[in-house]
Amino acid sequence: MLATAWMLSACGQGSYEKDAFRTKNGKVVTFYALGHSSIRMVYDGKEFYIDPVGNIGGKKVDYASMPKADYILVTHEHFDHYDAEAIKVLMGEGTQLIMNGKCVEKYGGGRVLANGESVELAEDITVEAVPAYNTTNGHRKFHPQGRDNGYIITVDGYRIYVAGDTEDIPEMEKVKDIDVAFLPCNQPYTMTPEQLVRVAKMLQPKVLFPYHLGQTDVSGAAEKLEKEGICVRVRHYE
Ligand code: ZN
Ligand code: ZN
Repeated sequence: MLATAWMLSACGQGSYEKDAFRTKNGKVVTFYALGHSSIRMVYDGKEFYIDPVGNIGGKKVDYASMPKADYILVTHEHFDHYDAEAIKVLMGEGTQLIMNGKCVEKYGGGRVLANGESVELAEDITVEAVPAYNTTNGHRKFHPQGRDNGYIITVDGYRIYVAGDTEDIPEMEKVKDIDVAFLPCNQPYTMTPEQLVRVAKMLQPKVLFPYHLGQTDVSGAAEKLEKEGICVRVRHYE
């Protein structure tokens, strides 16, 4: 199931669940499940925070106790993704802050990455912003097309897809060679478990982290996908 990604460690270490993998050159990529949509990723000593939020659903994340960010990526301006206080705490000297246009407007700083744009952050680190939006009638107002981002982060050839708040959209068919995918699953804002299964089958990531879960039970979806040969890790992304 883990063709190029070897599992180094599983959950239970430190206060957040942690999963680590190796890139083709043996560099380690580690993911910490901070909560809901907040992910800390460490690659080759570089600290990435994706949608860092300090307080969600009564669960507090103490960013002051964590290393400063090298890179912060924010998908969109909703409170469960964009938290100006958390960003301020994580900003250090040389932190690069990448967000969608609305977030940059709100924060009064950072770099806008729009759908389809990409940026090379270092020789071995690239970030591409991809579309994330709703397609279901009555849900389009939550995430209108063109506003919000998902991100494809490539580190040493290792490809991580953080989908953001989206449903299964046609643009996902162009997302290829994904090692690790974070796909959202909660109603009415993102995908149903059925949509999650459909997208995961199409993307065929080596490892899937369902995230942005709220109260959604994804155990049935996880079972289906495991049968398809996708390694599914359900972490505390409620
Ligand atoms: Zn949202
Ligand atoms: Zn959200």
